[in-house]
Order: sequence, then C-alpha cells, then structure tokens
Amino acid sequence: MSNESLEEFYSQILGFEWPWEVQEIIRDGKTREVHVIVAYDETDEPHCPVCGKPAPIHDRRARKWRHLDSCNHKTIIQSGVPRVKCSEHGVLQVPIPWAERNSRFTLELERHVCMWLREASISAVASMFDMSWDIVAGIQERAVNRGLEKRETASPKNIGIDETSFQKRHEYVSVILDKDNNTVLDVLQDRTAKTLDDWFKAQKVADFKELRSISMDMWDAFIKAVKANFKGAKSLIVFDRYHVAQHLNKAVDKVRAKEHRELMKENGTSELTGTKYDWLKTSVNIDNRTGDRPAFMRLARLNLKTARAWRIKETAALLWDFIYEEVAVKRWKELLGWISRSKIEPMIKVGKMIKSYFWGILNAIKLKASNAMLESMNSGIQRIKRMACGFRNRVRFRMAILFHFGGLDLGF
Ligand SMILES: [Zn+2]
Repeated sequence: MSNESLEEFYSQILGFEWPWEVQEIIRDGKTREVHVIVAYDETDEPHCPVCGKPAPIHDRRARKWRHLDSCNHKTIIQSGVPRVKCSEHGVLQVPIPWAERNSRFTLELERHVCMWLREASISAVASMFDMSWDIVAGIQERAVNRGLEKRETASPKNIGIDETSFQKRHEYVSVILDKDNNTVLDVLQDRTAKTLDDWFKAQKVADFKELRSISMDMWDAFIKAVKANFKGAKSLIVFDRYHVAQHLNKAVDKVRAKEHRELMKENGTSELTGTKYDWLKTSVNIDNRTGDRPAFMRLARLNLKTARAWRIKETAALLWDFIYEEVAVKRWKELLGWISRSKIEPMIKVGKMIKSYFWGILNAIKLKASNAMLESMNSGIQRIKRMACGFRNRVRFRMAILFHFGGLDLGF
C-alpha cells in the first residue's frame, strides 16, 4: 500500500470529512502506537461555532485524542486545531466532529467504552482499555450528561420513590422511577423531605399532568414533600406491597434471630440454624413443593414464634388483590387483630405502622399498583452496586444508576 492510499484508508475508516484530512500516518513500533496526523484545510473559511458567521483563524492548538486500537496498536489522532476569532464571541475552537469538546478520546472510543460498561464494572473496563478508573467514570458521566440534555420532559402516570443505601449502611439516596416506562427519572442525594420537595419544585424532568399514583415506603419525609406539592396527595400516595413486605420481612428476621439465640441458650441446639433466608422467601413467589421447601414447610408448622410471625407475613402477602374495597378492609382488619394479639413485639410494631398508614395501602389496592418494576429495579441497582464493590460518593452512584436505568440516549 502506498503512503497516499494508507492515509486515504485511515481517512475512510475514521470517517474524516473535508475540511479535515489525514495528512500523515506515523507508526512507532517500539511503543506500538499509530499516530494519525489530521489537518484542517484552511481554504475552507472557518466560522464562529456560536453565531456561524465567518471568522478568521486566530491560532492553532496541538491536541491529541485516543481512538480505538488498530491492529493492536494504540491509535492516537493528532491535530493542530484552529481557533477562530469572532468579533462578537471572541476566540473559540472550531468544532471537531470526532470528539466532544473537552474529551481526550474520540466519540467512537467512548461509544465502545460505554458498550462494555453495560456489561462490566468500571474497573474491568478500565483494565481492558488500559485507562484509569477515573477516566472510564468520566466517559460514563459525559454520556449520561449528553443523555440528560437530550431527554424530553416526561409525563409519568405512576411514579415510585424508593430509598436505597449506597455504601455504608444507613446512607441513602432516593431513586425516582417512572413505573410505566421502566426508567429511573432521577436520583436524589438523600431521603429527606427537603430534597424531595426541592426536586418537585425545580422539576424539569417531568411535568406531572397525568400523574395517577406515587408509590413509596411509609416514610413521613416523602409523604410531607408530596403533600406540599400535590393537591389531593392523600389519594395519590400508595404504600405498595413491596415496601410493606420489606417491613414484615425485617420483623420476621428479628423474631428468628432472637428465638434462635434463646433456643441455643436453653438447649444448646436450635431448629432455626441456617434457616434465615427460608423465612424471608414469600410463598406466592415460589413453589413450596420443590427443593428444600418441603423440609422447611415442616419446620414452619412447628410451634415457634418465628413460624407464627412468618404466617402473619405470608398472609399479608395475599391481601393485595381485591375487587371490593369493603372486603379488603375487612381482611386487613382481621390480620391487624391477629397481629395485635400475637404477643410478638417486632410484628406488633409493624402492625401499628400498617394501621396508621392503612389509607395508602388501600390506595395501592384500589389503584392495583404493581410492584414488579420496583422490585426488579431494586435488584438491578443492587447488582450494579455489587459490580462496583460500592461507590465512593453519591454523585458516582447517581451516574451509574442513570447510565444503566435512565433509558437515556447516550448520544452515539
Ligand atoms: Zn460569533
């Protein structure tokens, strides 16, 4: 291949178009690098990138961008990029079609990095592309910001607000979900009333013209913020089965842990050993006839406090699909009576909570609020958290959630 056709070849595979042209290709065998020198044809009179008026070239800045490797050679694009001087807008760099303004990577390389980030952790992608962790995180962040800029205002019908811990225990962010589109609208830095209130007030992501429901946990801070921003908040707010089940599960787990300790102390042995997760599964979601389940079901019939607490939880899981409101109210009242007589302290506590927030549970039943999206989103978020081995800060966590679940057009 003659040199001229090699340059043409690179021009074509890199997609350069006039006035940009490949001037020279330099291969460094020692460092295994290919340098593609690109020039700007100055017979094309440049324009101001802001107003589009012709503007003379002021100077040139030497710049480099890393591109995808070619044949195992690190490929670097180099160019003296002209800066024009506009009488109105001052000195500005002409637009570069292959890279974002301040990036040191071509868009094509950033696209590949983002493609891999869909499947692998930031550290895995960093080592694959021989980049630092921060650089890969920066590429992800730019892609998310491009997507956010392009995103149109949504009119969600059913939103969910879900708090999720991001690093240490008891440090939370709030994830706002569009439940019908399966996307994350935004991630807020904590779970306080003020943060949510400010978000509703400064809203650009969504108008709430078609809003029918807001599902959330029985959490006064969120309730307060919704009430401050929506008329008829009390009929919008929904305490879905997912959050109610979480509270009941936590209580069952407490009962089990305590009873296990007592049995060990008394008898030196306990039927509850190694059964933690069996009690947390919900029968409506699994088949009790297969696997280890028959053995567990025998245990669940024993006269244990844990088994009684578990039966309460299992019953609550069945009280969500009613056609008639009166029937729903009657069944929940029966359950609450059972709980209050149970003499099991953690369950009684949740029972009181359910009683005082029952209006929102009834809304969930009436609106047939689905919890499938909340659950799948929550496990998706847990997965990216595990993949990243935790996030250093809330900003990074927000970026990763929006990258994976924001439904964004990342601009490639
Ligand atoms: Zn201008």
